[in-house]
Amino acid sequence: MISYNLSMEFKTIIEPFKIKSVESLPITTEQERRGFLEREHWNVFGLKSQEVTIDLLTDSGTGSMSSEQWAAIMRGDESYAGSHSWQRFNEVLSDLTGYKHIIPTHQGRASEKILATISVKEGDIIPSNSHFDTTRANFEFAQSNPIDLLCEEGLDLLSPAPFKGNVDLEKLEELLKGPESNKIPFVLMTITNNTGGGQPVSMDNLKKVKELCTKYNKMFLLDACRFAENAWFVSQREEEYKDVEIREIAKEAFRLADGCTISLKKDGFGNIGGVLALNDDAMAEAARNLLILTEGFPTYGGLAGRDLDALAQGLKEITDKNYLEYRARSISYLAEKALSYDIPVVQPAGGHALYIDAKTFLPNIPPHEYPGHSVACEIYLIGGVRAVELGTLAFGVANENGEPDTPATHELVRLAAPRRTYTQSHFDYVAEVLEKLAEKKDKLKGYKILEQPKLLRHFTAKLKPLK
Ligand SMILES: *Cc1c(COP(=O)(O)O)cnc(C)c1O
Repeated sequence: MISYNLSMEFKTIIEPFKIKSVESLPITTEQERRGFLEREHWNVFGLKSQEVTIDLLTDSGTGSMSSEQWAAIMRGDESYAGSHSWQRFNEVLSDLTGYKHIIPTHQGRASEKILATISVKEGDIIPSNSHFDTTRANFEFAQSNPIDLLCEEGLDLLSPAPFKGNVDLEKLEELLKGPESNKIPFVLMTITNNTGGGQPVSMDNLKKVKELCTKYNKMFLLDACRFAENAWFVSQREEEYKDVEIREIAKEAFRLADGCTISLKKDGFGNIGGVLALNDDAMAEAARNLLILTEGFPTYGGLAGRDLDALAQGLKEITDKNYLEYRARSISYLAEKALSYDIPVVQPAGGHALYIDAKTFLPNIPPHEYPGHSVACEIYLIGGVRAVELGTLAFGVANENGEPDTPATHELVRLAAPRRTYTQSHFDYVAEVLEKLAEKKDKLKGYKILEQPKLLRHFTAKLKPLK
């Protein structure tokens, strides 16, 4: 394969692929969009996909497969046990991660649920840079206490630093040597740090976490959903790794830990799939026993043979540096555009999404009137672009007696890019939508919740705009 760094010779970073199969995008009028949102009580989760022009709701399972992956689908072997597809999946993941036991699951949270069930007891403490929300929910469901120990730079959204996903090593050591050390079954590092804006973790930080885990005799696990994007940032920002192949960086990261959970809907280039990988024999046996109960036989784990094959191929493609460069550039391009319109965004741009800081952008809308939601609705009305609020609507707590909600720490709006799905002109279009958003900034209004469920309210809450 010819591989060279396009950006060294040309200013234009191209999509390093051509299009073989297309899907029409719906083009709607503002009046139609207003009607759709009203019908759904101003909740973008209610919209039908054919009402959305550019869907940036999530990068999970929404990417495009390559022609090689579609070819792999045809190779899918649907044998219940020991299928050839499983062997290919196992081989790619064994080589990539180096872990002894590769356990397929239908998606990331299934791996988390199994991990939490077999290794976490009531009252346990699980330290992390930041737990992703399903990971946190699974540990909490197991009556344990997941805690986030993000580094100082990571807490400041707007100021750039190269590795804002790093864990605070001092705080981690304090916990590991403290009186509750015996309650810690393992340390879990999320790469990249989704909750913190898709920010990378340095290899230096991972190595030091490993040292601490060795010193205090703890297992070290990764939530490695975006292992390739993390390796890309390491190659760009960590001097020692600037000439190292992306795949080698990823391999080294996996080998620092004792196992991982991965949602293959992200850097697996898959529409569905996950894995739980472990070195420990006894844990793996317990995991497989539970897998049979909830997911399926250990050589397919809730996936069709064709899925395993598509993932095996996707996992080979994801570490292509031309692809990763195009991907990172799409996001940083949007961030530069947003900043040029005075829209505050998390900096530097993360690996998979642009995050608008709605608290800073709309200081006149208080958290209990959901400034992030106001932005998300407005960008849909302006251009049919769907994003998600990650602020007080998603993470705040509703109070009794009509008291305002307890606000979330941040009021973010995430525009996540599906992999290999949109082109430069799509990103230019989104930039234009953001430009119009900035022009309308002073006209934006807050929202009021009319109805909400007790849990995960942002998915189904009914709202209305305030006058
Ligand atoms: C998506 C994600 C998960 C959960 O994976 P699913 O496939 O959605 O169940 C866990 N951790 C991180 C960091 C994620 O991004």
